[in-house]
Amino acid sequence: MPVLCSSCGDKRAVLKRPKTGHSLCKECFFWAFEEEVHLTIVGAKLFTHGEKVGIGASGGKDSTVLAHVMKVLNERYNYGLELMLLSVDEGITGYRDDSLETVKRNQQQYDLPLKIVSYEELYGWTMDAIVKQVGLKNNCTFCGVFRRQALDRGAIMLKVDKICTGHNADDVAETVLMNFLRGDIARLRRCTAISTTSEGDGVVPRCKPLKYAYEKEIVLYAYFKKLDYFSTECIYSPNAYRGYARTFLKDLESVRSSSIMDVIHSGENLSVRDGVKMPSQGTCTRCGYISSQALCKACVLLEGLNRGLPKLGIGKHHKLHGKILSQEPFTEKEERKLKAVDF
Ligand code: SF4
Ligand code: ZN
Repeated sequence: MPVLCSSCGDKRAVLKRPKTGHSLCKECFFWAFEEEVHLTIVGAKLFTHGEKVGIGASGGKDSTVLAHVMKVLNERYNYGLELMLLSVDEGITGYRDDSLETVKRNQQQYDLPLKIVSYEELYGWTMDAIVKQVGLKNNCTFCGVFRRQALDRGAIMLKVDKICTGHNADDVAETVLMNFLRGDIARLRRCTAISTTSEGDGVVPRCKPLKYAYEKEIVLYAYFKKLDYFSTECIYSPNAYRGYARTFLKDLESVRSSSIMDVIHSGENLSVRDGVKMPSQGTCTRCGYISSQALCKACVLLEGLNRGLPKLGIGKHHKLHGKILSQEPFTEKEERKLKAVDF
């Protein structure tokens, strides 16, 4: 006996929703998934009518589903948004060049304008070249810091009011765990926020419409909608620490499916005691980007790359910021320490 959809009671169920356990037909699943994203958007007042919104697009499943759902909801509920795709080319041969081809096809399929900003044009370095210099241990630190700024710079070029990214519930829960394990209170607070307001000069507000969407459901949505996405992992291996948090979370999820939501809610409900010192946001004296130090992380990493001292931005070397700014040379001992790379 085929199982009937528990929502319409009419058609055959083709899946069991990971989030609720309900057996649904394709159409009822699409509707439930899209409506939940709509409720997230409306509930958190993520957009206002007439806004220009850049969708961070990597060609992967999350951002492809995000672009598709944003387009559907914008038309269905008349959000009145001007949508466009914004991609970052990290310069990773055999990975990003292929995934950007997917984004270009998505641009045609969804009929949205597309802007691609590259690390090479912004920083003068591709990730291929960075990995050659820094090895495969800290590459994701460079890539993460540069990507954050690159998205902002692309958004400014496109003159968008907001950026939305495809971060899903699993990503947020992983980040909560990682920040908790590191005791990073400032990040712990920020990572659960569904949207960030403009903090400082030139930084474009961001939001995560898929914050409560389970990764498993995003995969199902993309699969049943036959969306065109790129599923290969980066050749420079994913961040190892995040990998452990991910495995841990998947183990928890297999025992209790609500674990992902539970971790997010725990992160949201943690509050910081009065009087705890939080880093104050200023701006980078070199590039003007937001920073809690005299130099932003991207400028320090870049300085390290350009000087052949790749460890400059890894770990805590705040004391050296003054020397960088005044262009005072480092001592031999400092140079030796900053040169060492563990491949
Ligand atoms: Fe960049 Fe690391 Fe992600 Fe590759 S895995 S795209 S190097 S952050
Ligand atoms: Zn800077």
